[in-house]
Formats: sequence, structure tokens, C-alpha cells
Amino acid sequence: MIHYSLVCDKSHKFDGWFSNAAAYDAQKLRGLVTCPICLTTAVDKAIMAPAVNRTDGTEKVSLSIGHPQHQQLREAMLALRNKVTSEADYVGDRFAEEARKIHFKEVDARGIYGEATKEEVAALVEDGVDFMPLPSVKEEHN
Ligand SMILES: [Zn+2]
Repeated sequence: MIHYSLVCDKSHKFDGWFSNAAAYDAQKLRGLVTCPICLTTAVDKAIMAPAVNRTDGTEKVSLSIGHPQHQQLREAMLALRNKVTSEADYVGDRFAEEARKIHFKEVDARGIYGEATKEEVAALVEDGVDFMPLPSVKEEHN
């Protein structure tokens, strides 16, 4: 595994783990490297600034080591979320209503995503409507 410090075009900095440099290039080429904060694929390796400390040497920097499996899972969730949100229609609060229409074939089947209350979700499950939670990828703690 190699670790890259990555940065998107909105200057969000995040970490990426790849099996090797070629894997990074391949994933980048296929648009699989996304910013976890704004989900853009316009990301690049951050320029590694030399660790020059101009002050008194006590200034702290934030460091972390992410669990590689956690990172892969996160990337998979982001990829799924990106796929759903790019291909499906956003129906907002009408998710339960629209999902039921699709389930009972009142309208043509299509991909949708949106929000539903717990009661609506329970009712959908009861009606046997096939749906799944959309992964919500929380912003990194700063
Ligand atoms: Zn970003």
C-alpha cells in the first residue's frame, strides 16, 4: 500500500491509500478517486511541502493513519453514492410515494433517491418495496 495526500479543486485535503502508484493512476483515470467532502473527481496529489518550520519548532501539524480497509469501504460507499446520485432522479420528500408507485407499476421503473421518515421506511418494508439506504458519507472531522 502507498499513501498519497490528495487535494481537490476546492482545496479539501484528504488521504488516499492505493496498492501502488499505477493503481492510483488507473483509479484516477476512471474517475474513482473522489474528494470525500464535496465528491468531486477533480483531485490531485497534494504537493508535499517540505517540513520547514519557521517558528519556534513547537507548531503542531495534524496527522493520522487511516485503516486501509476503512478507506476502501469508504471509497466503495462514495462510488455507490456517486453512481446512484448521478443516474437516479432526486425526488426529495416524495421518496416513499414514488417508490410505492414504481413498486406497484403505476409508473415506469426508474432510479430514484430522496428522503423518507422512519414511519415511511417501515411502511415501505411492510409493502415489500425493494429499496436500500443511500450511504451517507460524513464529512471528515477537521
Ligand atoms: Zn473537495
